[in-house]
Amino acid sequence: MKANTVSILGVSFTKTTLHNFTTKLHKDINEHRNEFVVTANPEIVMYAKKHPQYLETIRSADAIVADGIGIIIGAKILGTPLPQRVTGYDIFTELLAWGHQNHKSAYFIGAKPEVSQKLKQVLREKYPNLRVAGVQDGYFDDEQPIVADIQNTSPDMVFVATGYPKQETFIAKYRHVTNAVWIGLGGSFDVLTGTVKRAPKLWQQLHLEWLYRAVKEPSRFGRLMVLPQYLLAVIHERQQHK
Ligand code: UDP
Repeated sequence: MKANTVSILGVSFTKTTLHNFTTKLHKDINEHRNEFVVTANPEIVMYAKKHPQYLETIRSADAIVADGIGIIIGAKILGTPLPQRVTGYDIFTELLAWGHQNHKSAYFIGAKPEVSQKLKQVLREKYPNLRVAGVQDGYFDDEQPIVADIQNTSPDMVFVATGYPKQETFIAKYRHVTNAVWIGLGGSFDVLTGTVKRAPKLWQQLHLEWLYRAVKEPSRFGRLMVLPQYLLAVIHERQQHK
């Protein structure tokens, strides 16, 4: 296990805060390093547990951060707490603001075609000094033209929001084409464009964002079933360590 990490069901989470982590990413970008960041929640951990290939993919990342409150709870149950949530969406908006201030460039892959159109507009309005190297929706058949475009435009940041496991598989396969911070962001483009609303502040403060989303989009409700399984697996892991 890497130093400064907490292991939950075989996945090593970086012990960090949003501030420290984004500060480190700024440095990585300025030094043209190649970084692969995974933002993981309990669903991803359980998926990795069942799919060894995917576990290997995320283990090849330079950092895995705690995207969900379930990860914070899991770390606590195991007696190895993590300082706070470091969500993909918070990293995303922080990097956009920093990229705007520092004239950096970014490539965007993911979400439905109409969301990518809206995304271009939001980026122009909110982050005009960020250089947009490319915007591609996430429903493509052929990856090669996108990969070639990333290579040609050599962005500082590559945001991949096609959902797991697609986004991490894509990053692990193609990150070598250019030195950048490559990060998987789930539904972040939907949130930034207002296509999907983030939970009201109170729900966020109560750490019930996941419940809010399930109530708003009942098709997601089934996905919550993984949570009790995850908690049981974590409790089982704790007992084995005793
Ligand atoms: N998506 C995509 N390509 C696909 C499947 C999904 O770009 O082939 C997008 C989808 O439109 C949505 C995001 O990926 O914007 C997944 O969002 P979700 O909130 O489900 O993320 P997860 O919880 O899987 O990280």
